[in-house]
Amino acid sequence: MYAQQAEARKRTILIIGSGFSGIAMAIALRRHGISDIIILERAKALGGTWQANSYPGCACDVESALYSLSFAPNPDWTNTFARQPEIQAYLARVANELGITPLIHFGEEVTGARWDEASQQWSVTTASRTWTVDVLVMANGPLSDPIPPNIPGLDMFCGPAFHTARWDPSVPLEGKRVAVIGTGASAIQVIPAIQPIVQQLIVAQRTPAWVMPRATWTIPKWRRTLYRRAPMLQRLLRGCLYFYHEFVFLPFRHPMLRRPGVALVGLHLKRQVRDRTLRAALTPTYAVGCKRLLVSNDYYPAITQPNVTLVPHAVMRVEPDAIITADGARHPVDVLILASGFRVTDPILAPVIIGRDGRSLADVWQGSPKAYMGTTVAGFPNLFMLLGPNTGLGHSSLVMIAEAQSKHVLGVLDLITQRGARSAEPRSGAQDRFVRMVDEGHSRSVWIRGGCKSWYLDKTGRNSALWPFGVGRFRRTVERVREEDYLTVADQAR
Ligand code: NAP
Repeated sequence: MYAQQAEARKRTILIIGSGFSGIAMAIALRRHGISDIIILERAKALGGTWQANSYPGCACDVESALYSLSFAPNPDWTNTFARQPEIQAYLARVANELGITPLIHFGEEVTGARWDEASQQWSVTTASRTWTVDVLVMANGPLSDPIPPNIPGLDMFCGPAFHTARWDPSVPLEGKRVAVIGTGASAIQVIPAIQPIVQQLIVAQRTPAWVMPRATWTIPKWRRTLYRRAPMLQRLLRGCLYFYHEFVFLPFRHPMLRRPGVALVGLHLKRQVRDRTLRAALTPTYAVGCKRLLVSNDYYPAITQPNVTLVPHAVMRVEPDAIITADGARHPVDVLILASGFRVTDPILAPVIIGRDGRSLADVWQGSPKAYMGTTVAGFPNLFMLLGPNTGLGHSSLVMIAEAQSKHVLGVLDLITQRGARSAEPRSGAQDRFVRMVDEGHSRSVWIRGGCKSWYLDKTGRNSALWPFGVGRFRRTVERVREEDYLTVADQAR
């Protein structure tokens, strides 16, 4: 047994990405006695989504007391909903203090990975070299690869044009005519932040969003001191927020409970936008919650400012100095900001991760990502995905999801050790059962029945992005490993 454990500790684990999930995984592995860990990060700094999204106004839309690692509470949050620089600094501090930063190889973008059944190892390639490892953890985030909008003429635009997740701070916006394409979570944060400095702001809205008010305020110094002296108080707050979000989630699944939420978003819009025509243009026709429910107190007030024009139409064409919207209007602009979202259901790495049978994840998924517990995939031994298919949340903190998945990964690694094996993958029957359970959970939900087209739905119409239940159920389902659901190389069944 001791020899087996010593062997297990020698395993090399490669983690793609140094965002919340990658850092949480590395810490969990270290605490489990596994030290041979490599983290590959394509950027020059850690933070994942909180490194990539540095646009003005970027902040978390889950309260920071909940959107932090369970074992690293931060008494120093300066706002109930921390801003991006503070979140990135928090993650960097935790990674430094727990010795994770030296494990990160920056500027290493993974271009492919192949499982070798003979050696029972993964070969992971980057531009600089090939890494041969025993276990591969994809912690590269579901919202990390921007989708530029597919609009004719976009590449002919003469001025600066960039995606919110690729913000170019060298472009001055002061006194410029700026267009923002999109009205999702990124757009509604960037619009109020830049509205006061630009000369004119065109907001190109293809589909309006439902927006909730947000309980955001600066945390006074005395409260931060209190949290430092009595950490239990912040833990208590975290617990309250956790249960509050679990409660707020119920209407997503039970239409009967939706009335108060519908009234709240309607009232928020009515109070903040007095002009009836503008209000009508900002009112969605789909059910509240069908698309990601947004939270903001300053989006509607920004839209009502005299230098802002809401254009409630899709952008049909881009000319070198203007955008043309579906109503035929031409809007001259100097800068284009693309708040057009991310590749969620067709992940960029899926075609280049090659499993046991020589098939890629994209081949196996056929446009609809599926994984056992959102974490492992039949035919892909020793591959783990954090924040993988059907693990997303529209209502609470994804950090808790990543931590629960990390526990699952440790459980599977322990199982491999116990069985004296080299690799594990889920049985396809177990994976199918899990996917059926998730699909049934979605079948009557607002995400499917709410009358909208959202980034949660893949090209087959399946919701392969979200977990359909509460966070508590995710933890209960995923943290514990059901041994019978996993095949190891020692099994004759394979
Ligand atoms: P998104 O929600 O996918 O929004 C993209 C927007 O671009 C939508 O309004 C979409 O319109 C529009 N769009 C896309 N292609 C277009 C085209 N060709 N012409 C016109 N409009 C087009 O992306 P996001 O705002 O970046 O947010 C993505 C997710 O990231 C969020 O839902 C959230 O989970 C996360 N996020 C979180 C935070 C936070 O915590 N604070 C902040 C930002 C993002 P349609 O609706 O018509 O498709």
